[in-house]
Amino acid sequence: MQQPTREELLSWDRWHVWHGFTQMAEYEPLVLVEGQGCRLRDLDGRWYLDGVASLWCNVHGHRHPRLDAALQGQLAQVAHVTNLGASNVPAIQLARRLAELAPPGLEHVFFSDSGSTAVEVALKMAFQYWRQRPQPRPEKTRFLALAEAYHGDTLGSVSVGGIELFHEIFRPLLFPCFRAPAPDTYRTPDGVPPDQLTPYYLQQVENILQAHHHQIAAMIVEPLVQCAAGILVHPPGFLRGLRQLTRQYNVLLIADEVAVGFGRTGRMFACQHEEVQPDFLCLGKGLTGGYLPMAATLTTTEIWNAFLGRYEDNRTFFHGHTYGGNPLAAAVALANLELFEEERLLESLPAKIERLREHLERISRLEHVGHVRQCGLIAGIELVEDRTTKRPYPRPQRRGWQVCLQARSEGVLLRPLGDVVVIFPPLAISLPDLDFLCQVVERSIAAVCS
Ligand SMILES: *Cc1c(COP(=O)(O)O)cnc(C)c1O
Repeated sequence: MQQPTREELLSWDRWHVWHGFTQMAEYEPLVLVEGQGCRLRDLDGRWYLDGVASLWCNVHGHRHPRLDAALQGQLAQVAHVTNLGASNVPAIQLARRLAELAPPGLEHVFFSDSGSTAVEVALKMAFQYWRQRPQPRPEKTRFLALAEAYHGDTLGSVSVGGIELFHEIFRPLLFPCFRAPAPDTYRTPDGVPPDQLTPYYLQQVENILQAHHHQIAAMIVEPLVQCAAGILVHPPGFLRGLRQLTRQYNVLLIADEVAVGFGRTGRMFACQHEEVQPDFLCLGKGLTGGYLPMAATLTTTEIWNAFLGRYEDNRTFFHGHTYGGNPLAAAVALANLELFEEERLLESLPAKIERLREHLERISRLEHVGHVRQCGLIAGIELVEDRTTKRPYPRPQRRGWQVCLQARSEGVLLRPLGDVVVIFPPLAISLPDLDFLCQVVERSIAAVCS
């Protein structure tokens, strides 16, 4: 087949490809053709530093020889087999490895293909569990989530989501959900001093649990950081407090670590910072190092047991995805986890996290930077029109997006969340590349917000 020309690719991209979270009337194509380490090359031969890890999933860089080899090795065996009533070797090994790495008690692994489906699976399992457990509680059918939550784009995960801009239009299609306020360490509630934020926000959660726990099957939370909300970093102790409250009120806890899992916060899983053992752990994004779509929902033996029985008892979990447990994805996920050890990746993170903190401290002094938030190798820089009143820029000005366009012209790929500039590089980024990334971000903010 004849190769399309550059002009054909650009016009076909504009017309045929409907891009996610993108206003297609304004879309300007960016076609990436090659990766190497933390860099990506576009159709015109320009190289960029991948400042958002290809939307929060890349870990060891692009075209890592070990990951490439794992994929090729599995290709020589088989590309895909079903995991409905059958299995494959890398998926078995991966389930075993995830159970070893995860917080204690999460021994059973359900594979799917995106973060959204990992969340759907947890919601449906939690619901079904209360109907089938030894002392059934079929009235526990509802969910509790935080305001500004993001758990994916399928209807169940949107139902527990709380981002007005994305989710409001679908409200008539969604199941209702109890909602507690999202901890906000910038626009803090009146009269609450910074060191009282954790008890204040936990009290809001407890008020809902107290009134409605008999109806609530599970609470879902993004541990430590609500990324899509604009990198909202929770105050310390909040996650641990949620675990205590959900135990106290007999409500399951679903930890959605799709964004924060796999080293992103400095530990393998965010729950480990506060020694939290959730009832469900949802994983995606970094699971395959950013190579292939794969996700997993881990759960406990107590949940698992409620689904066991004879076939005709109908206790089966009637849910499964065609590509669940795909062997290519599982093989590369296993290699991803081996690389964490071989390259001592977690040990390398404190120096990078500290370096990022130093850069953010400088950036926070820019005139239109209202707040910087960091957790591990995640940072959000909130731009405001007026620092003293914390007044945002008018939305049509799209300052966050302008900053990212400016950064692109200097060789850094970024994607903002409204007026929050996000820094989320591959964990393998070198210190010099991290310096370059942060300097470009600083210059771009200064240029666009002056
Ligand atoms: C990205 C994300 C999801 C959804 O994952 P997809 O693979 O895009 O479906 C769910 N939860 C969180 C916290 C995420 O950041």
